[in-house]
Parts: sequence; structure tokens; C-alpha cells
Amino acid sequence: MKLTNRSKVVSNKEQTGMEKLYLPGILKGMLITGSHLFKRRATVKYPEETRPMAGVYRGWHVLKRDENGAERCTACGLCAVACPAEAITMESAERKKGEENLYREEKYAKTYEINMLRCIFCGLCEEACPKEAIFLTDRLVDTEYEREDFVYGKSKLVEKVDKRIDVTKRQTLEVAAFKKLPGLKHNEVWSGKNLNKGNKH
Ligand code: SF4
Ligand code: SF4
Repeated sequence: MKLTNRSKVVSNKEQTGMEKLYLPGILKGMLITGSHLFKRRATVKYPEETRPMAGVYRGWHVLKRDENGAERCTACGLCAVACPAEAITMESAERKKGEENLYREEKYAKTYEINMLRCIFCGLCEEACPKEAIFLTDRLVDTEYEREDFVYGKSKLVEKVDKRIDVTKRQTLEVAAFKKLPGLKHNEVWSGKNLNKGNKH
């Protein structure tokens, strides 16, 4: 029974002397290779060279610190609820006296994990966050050999105090306007004074 009309008749004819030397085949191959020498390279020498990222590229997340270096995340869980891939898990803890410089809010994320194998980089966690704490960046997720190494904890997510990650490109005009709204306590920078007044952030 003939299933398709794509079948080809294979030629079993005897090879000529030239063909037995493989010379025509080698020359044809060299011509094809040579023609590519004068064409624009399609590849880059990564990681020394990188391609420019599109402005809308979404990669490795960052958990931001505020201007004083305190973690902004208050472990409210909204990002985890918004995440369609259920990639985010966290455990909250209450801030202790003397930890005000470490955590901006009275509650903070004791653990915070994102499973990069589940993440689809949709950015919904970023949109859901009321504290401007999580952003996606243009950094590529590391390559790993073990699946568990793709579960990023706070050590890989929270930005370093002395090595801040610029997320201004991700802050839309609407977000910038929202941050300027007076009266929104969570937009205020922490200071010892307003903490003692018992302000709700
Ligand atoms: S980018 Fe999307 S899939 Fe990834 S953690 Fe955030 S909400 Fe979940
Ligand atoms: S990153 Fe934002 S949304 Fe997620 S738990 Fe922290 S404060 Fe809440």
C-alpha cells in the first residue's frame, strides 16, 4: 500500500572513479564552507559576546532592597497566588527588634524560592507585588546539571547591598506614578522615626 507520494527511488548504480576518490563531494563541501566566509556571522562568541536584549525581555528575578538596604518583600504571598506556574514558595517570619535595617516591613520572607524550571517568565509576580519588591531582569538563568539547583532561594534572588540591580526599565509610567502617590505608606522609605509612631507600612 502506498501511503505518500514522497518516496524516492534509491540509485544503486556503480560509482565512477572520481566518485570513489570523493573529490567532487569534498570540493562541493569546501565551496559551501568558503562561501560562508564572506557572509555575515550568524553566531556570537558567547559569553564574551552577547546579543542585545529586547527591552521587554524577562529573565532571572530580583528581590529588591529599599534605599536603606532593607529587603522590601513582606511575604504577603500575592506573587505566589498570581503565579500561573505555581513556581513561588515562601515562609514568612516576624521582624524582631533591631532588624529594622534588614527588613522594611514588620513581616518578611524567611525563605523565598522560585523554581526556574516551572517559571514561564510571564511577569505576573512582578505585577502582583504591592511592595515593588520583585522584578524580572534581563539576566539569563544559569545553566545547571541538577534539577534542584534551579530552585533559586534568597541567596540568588535578593540583590546584594553593594551590587544593586537596575530595574528602572521595568518600572512603567503607571508604576512610577503610583509610587509618587502621597499617603501610601508602603511607598515611604523606612526611618526610625516613623516606625516608633506605629505606622502601618
Ligand atoms: S514570572 Fe510568572 S511563572 Fe515566573 S514566577 Fe513570576 S508569576 Fe510565576
Ligand atoms: S515579592 Fe511582593 S508580592 Fe511577593 S511576597 Fe514579597 S511583597 Fe508580596
